[in-house]
Amino acid sequence: MVLADLGRRINGALSSLSRAGTLDDALLDSTLKEICTALLESDVNVKLVASLRTRVKAQVKAALEADKTGGGRDAQKRNVVQKAVFDELVGLVNPGVEPYKPKKGQSNVIMAVGLQGNGKTTTCTKLAVYYQKRGFKSCIVCADTFRAGAFDQTRQSATKAKVAYFGSYTETDPVVIAAQGVEKFRKERFEIIIVDTSGRHKQEKDLFAEMEMIGEAVKPDMTVLVLDASIGQAAEAQSRAFKETANFGAIIVTKMDGHAKGGGAISAVAATQTPIIFLGTGEHLSDLERFAPEPFISKMLGMGDIQGLVEHMQDMAQQNPEKQKEVMKNLEQGKFTIKDWREQMGNVMNMGPISKFASMIPGLPDMAGSEDEISSKFKRMIYMTDSMTSYELESDGLCFLEMEKDGKTPIRTNWRVQRVARGSGTSVGEVEEMLFQYRMMASMAKGAGGKNGWLSAMQKMQ
Ligand code: GDP
Repeated sequence: MVLADLGRRINGALSSLSRAGTLDDALLDSTLKEICTALLESDVNVKLVASLRTRVKAQVKAALEADKTGGGRDAQKRNVVQKAVFDELVGLVNPGVEPYKPKKGQSNVIMAVGLQGNGKTTTCTKLAVYYQKRGFKSCIVCADTFRAGAFDQTRQSATKAKVAYFGSYTETDPVVIAAQGVEKFRKERFEIIIVDTSGRHKQEKDLFAEMEMIGEAVKPDMTVLVLDASIGQAAEAQSRAFKETANFGAIIVTKMDGHAKGGGAISAVAATQTPIIFLGTGEHLSDLERFAPEPFISKMLGMGDIQGLVEHMQDMAQQNPEKQKEVMKNLEQGKFTIKDWREQMGNVMNMGPISKFASMIPGLPDMAGSEDEISSKFKRMIYMTDSMTSYELESDGLCFLEMEKDGKTPIRTNWRVQRVARGSGTSVGEVEEMLFQYRMMASMAKGAGGKNGWLSAMQKMQ
């Protein structure tokens, strides 16, 4: 089952809980049964699923017992169940270990290992692109001398991605190539140096010996195991086998797009206490998503990814410091104007697939669609802001509303909306929808700003 389907199934079970009348044991049981069946169909280990079920029940029981109001109303009970399911799903994919975080201004060597065909070479270029976009000077060293054509593949994709690369057609010793490449790029002050090693068809002794030698030669700051999602639960055995030799610090699970066993692979890896840092979600260079347990589950259940959004804003701040300074300053003061929103949309359009950004925003399920459809929707939103006056752009959107006499209760949108719709060649409905989305984003962004907001919490973490 593809992850989006898994999310929909779990969500479906939870929302039927909300629709039903009294929340009793039978309803809780049938909801949990539905959720567990969906997880099993995603190849999550049966023991993990059984323990999730027991723990959700225990959490719900404990929460209801702690509630002095005698169990509370049904709506409250449902919230308790939803929260317990959310927490346990997060627990299922959370290895509880923090991965290495590359630092600016120094050389961070990342060595990629894994079996052939798992997507290692593709992932190395994706990683270089990811970090390059975030302001790190990035490059790739191709130390795969086992597979004919490996260097050509790196050369082609690195050239396409405008990433520096190093490799050799004549040298046959991968350790020599790795050492030369890393030394050269260290001297040239590259900040992310990715070393692609040989993959093999199976876990062979030679492969492990070679990995160890390359590791000793280049002294990686982080070794990453690249794993194919389609192996599902078998990910646990494979990662344990690699862990015994290459002491890797992180995992990237590839081919998460369209693979039935993605959930199984992620939970299996979490069981080995190794952090997953990225997911490969397609063959394009931008098909790489950062992985963190809570945002992952939140996004899977259609609840958005606030942390991802904040991180994204910080990345943008590094890339485009001048433009972003103002937005960040506003945010820190808990302000987020339509102009800031527009700035973010413009940045996102330059940054890569918008569909990924859209899924981070809570309440945007109707943004689902092909990349082209979403992109054209974003463009229309930008046209709408183009038709706004500077007064409107600098506002928090309230000037588009007609209020009751009390000045607080909105009755309907006003003439300004009609003017913007006419000016941008869109409809009143579309402008209203855009303003609604802006308001959701603004309330989230305001929550992110301020002294106790996400933003300052994240800044403190760095
Ligand atoms: P390597 O042998 O491990 O270096 O694997 P490659 O990087 O050559 O990838 C093997 C195949 O998997 C290629 O056809 C890639 O395009 C494809 N691939 C890699 N990552 C992904 C992914 O995240 N999703 C999908 N659908 N295909 C991928």
